[in-house]
Amino acid sequence: MTRLVMKFGGTSMADLERIRRAARLVAAEYDAGHKVAVVVSAMAGKTNELVAWTDGAGKATGKATPGDDEYDVIVASGEQVTAGLLAMTLRNMGYDAVSMMGWQVPIITSDVHGKARILDIPPAKLDTALDAGQIVVVPGFQGVTESGRITTLGRGGSDTSAVAVAAAIKAVRCDIYTDVDGVYTTDPRIESKARRLKKISFEEMLEMASLGAKVLQTRSVELAMAQRVPVRVLSSFVEPGENIDQGTIVCDEEEIVEKHIVSGVAFSRDEAKITLLGLPNKIGISALVFGKLAAANINVDMIVQSEKRSGEYANQIFTVGRRDAKTAVDIMTSSKDEIGFDEIRLDDTVSKISIVGVGMRSHTGVAETMFRALSEKGINIQVISTSEIKVSVLIDEAYTELAVRALHAAYGLDKIGV
Ligand code: ADP
Ligand code: ASP
Ligand code: MG
Repeated sequence: MTRLVMKFGGTSMADLERIRRAARLVAAEYDAGHKVAVVVSAMAGKTNELVAWTDGAGKATGKATPGDDEYDVIVASGEQVTAGLLAMTLRNMGYDAVSMMGWQVPIITSDVHGKARILDIPPAKLDTALDAGQIVVVPGFQGVTESGRITTLGRGGSDTSAVAVAAAIKAVRCDIYTDVDGVYTTDPRIESKARRLKKISFEEMLEMASLGAKVLQTRSVELAMAQRVPVRVLSSFVEPGENIDQGTIVCDEEEIVEKHIVSGVAFSRDEAKITLLGLPNKIGISALVFGKLAAANINVDMIVQSEKRSGEYANQIFTVGRRDAKTAVDIMTSSKDEIGFDEIRLDDTVSKISIVGVGMRSHTGVAETMFRALSEKGINIQVISTSEIKVSVLIDEAYTELAVRALHAAYGLDKIGV
């Protein structure tokens, strides 16, 4: 009998009716002969509420919450509730189901609280339960350190829990049930003409996720790729049997027959642009600037440096996550004399729009089409960055939707057949 992991996100666990529907989908896979491990998210909105509580308590005690290990104790609790509820619902339907918390499995993680990484999932307990015919329900998002403290994996982390459990129990596939019926050419909430992709390669999905498509957490795609776990994204808003031939398979590029030059458009509003004007144009200056940001654990994304005509000075533009913007500016400002720039500017009303597609490797003119489509809409490109299978541009945040739709049309994505 083959093993299967089924993951249900927050909207799929939002209330008891949805939990009952998820239970029916689980029961159907079990009845079809699978050994099933289920990974669940907290009810929609619950994690936000818990995070807000930690903010309140953290402020009241004057303690910063990030890195505080009690943060994880609190925010991990949402998944405990849904895991118990789903197991209880399955029992009431006559199935032998059991919940297993992250510390009981155990899902062993690093000790970076709030952003832990899964290190190991010893499969023994899961194996025993599955082989005994039980349906095991595991809360996503949570783990435990070697020393026994509760951890969480970062927002959206249940996807990663699911893929990691699938790898640990050697599941044939990891099915991610969510509120859309697959991975689309862009976020269907922004572009109603977005089309579902039947298949997407791991590489493209990885880029899409890391460039802002939150349908899968980036780390989950990395893990699926490394551990060779086939992933399918599909809707939980159906009854058993209704979801035949729906969804999107995330798989190796070789398995995809119908290849697109561009497969998707992603966007991220979580961007801030910092400009350093009048930087001395000398060896080691970038190492100094970015060394200071790295020391503060600030991730820098796009970087552009331009020389002034005289050659003695340069301007540097870089982007960081919006949450890090103020800290980055403070660090730069406090090192102004050491670095030797004239002026610093911050713009946190920018967004990053990206096109992704493996076809870019072998086709020319892909970037040009992007730039032309944006210019026809009067959208100014502030920064550009490229890699083998993506082109990203930074634009004024106000034009996000317009840019996404313009690019979606420019590459004919609204006509992709499904
Ligand atoms: P869950 O709670 O099931 O984990 P998420 O809200 O994390 O669900 O992810 C699903 C959402 O991802 C969709 O509702 C959709 O708005 C968004 N999304 C962004 N980009 C895409 C895309 N390219 N394809 C499908 N969904 C996308
Ligand atoms: N409940 C967590 C969150 O909202 C984890 C997840 O849903 O993937 O981020
Ligand atoms: Mg999610």
